[in-house]
Amino acid sequence: MTYDFDLATKINAIAAKAKDSNPHWISTPHGEYETNSGNDWCRTCGLFMFKHLRRKDRKRAEQYYFDGGERAGSDSHRFCAHCGCWLRISLTDYGIEEELHYYRENGVGLNSIPDEAYSLDIMMRYASWNGDHETEIQASRGNS
Ligand SMILES: [Zn+2]
Repeated sequence: MTYDFDLATKINAIAAKAKDSNPHWISTPHGEYETNSGNDWCRTCGLFMFKHLRRKDRKRAEQYYFDGGERAGSDSHRFCAHCGCWLRISLTDYGIEEELHYYRENGVGLNSIPDEAYSLDIMMRYASWNGDHETEIQASRGNS
């Protein structure tokens, strides 16, 4: 099986319409700041929350850090705790298997087209096409 560059290019073009950001984290004197929606932030929302937290805790403002800002390795997709946009990750082998499992169970098309393309783009980008996933990928294609 060969990598379908033509398909990958088309998917990538659609994926570009989905909003994404490098992931960020907020360190506080009490540890990493976390909400019910998680502790990963896009740059815009994270910076806003970081400044807000520092203003509320002026005496210890210097102990707050706005961290991250680079694509991070992850076992699953991550989303901004506030706006819910995609956070840029590189999917681990485990994550790719989970994604393939998801698509085998659910097929393609449950999410909006740019969002669907975004997750397919990430999966295709990080799958090791000559490695152990070849059987998984073929099985996934056979069922679709
Ligand atoms: Zn956000």
